[in-house]
Amino acid sequence: MITIKNLHKRFGELEVLKGIDLEVGKGKVVVLIGPSGSGKTTFLRCMNVLEIPTKGSISIENQALDFSQKVPKKKVPLFRSLTGMVFQNYNLFPHKTALENVMEGPITVKKESKDTVRKRAEELLSKVGLGDKLDYYPFQLSGGQQQRVGIARALAMEPKVMLFDEPTSALDPELVGEVLKVMKDLAREGMTMIVVTHEMRFAKEVADEVIFMEGGVIVEQSKPNEMFTNPKEERTKQFLRLIQ
Ligand code: ADP
Repeated sequence: MITIKNLHKRFGELEVLKGIDLEVGKGKVVVLIGPSGSGKTTFLRCMNVLEIPTKGSISIENQALDFSQKVPKKKVPLFRSLTGMVFQNYNLFPHKTALENVMEGPITVKKESKDTVRKRAEELLSKVGLGDKLDYYPFQLSGGQQQRVGIARALAMEPKVMLFDEPTSALDPELVGEVLKVMKDLAREGMTMIVVTHEMRFAKEVADEVIFMEGGVIVEQSKPNEMFTNPKEERTKQFLRLIQ
């Protein structure tokens, strides 16, 4: 369903992604791990076209972008809408309620009617356990609740794949579980997901594939059981020793 070929991203002199190749099947959950600075966030941002890769291509279902040519600006919004991004710091609009945050994208980007969107937003907020908080502002919600609004907001765009960038790392430990539960439910329902996280238990339980990335390349890719009990590469072993 997703094919990424030879993806490169450079910021000035610094080459952050050095040729990423990856295929993700429909309904699969891929967890991305690796040391800070290895390019995980940049990779997700490239998938969401928040960053324009310097080279390579990404295709999602029947849409493709080839970055070795100049990407037409008008192709970007449609391609972006194939992926839903969940950020570490939620990135909610502070002056909009939970409901308004979830409704914003479909109305402004997809030009859908308010009534249709309102109904879907209410259903999504109920789904993430916030059916009674529709009119709350972000400052009235806990971090875990804000992040669940963030997930509902991404889902409201009806993406083909959900991208999670360390969705629980800004949360107090007691709030991590409620966000992981929503993510597990999504995975169980068959959502295709790429997740950058330090939550190794989540990776073990939910991932179909785990990818260890370092220095802008994929060092190792395998099933979670294999990755955590029998990593092949010395760099993977070192990293896992440090975090486990
Ligand atoms: P990770 O998510 O694995 O911690 P990042 O993708 O955030 O890694 O960062 C990889 C490298 O790219 C870092 O050295 C970071 O400083 C650099 N980088 C990320 N974004 C930018 C940017 N917009 N401009 C310049 N350098 C950047």
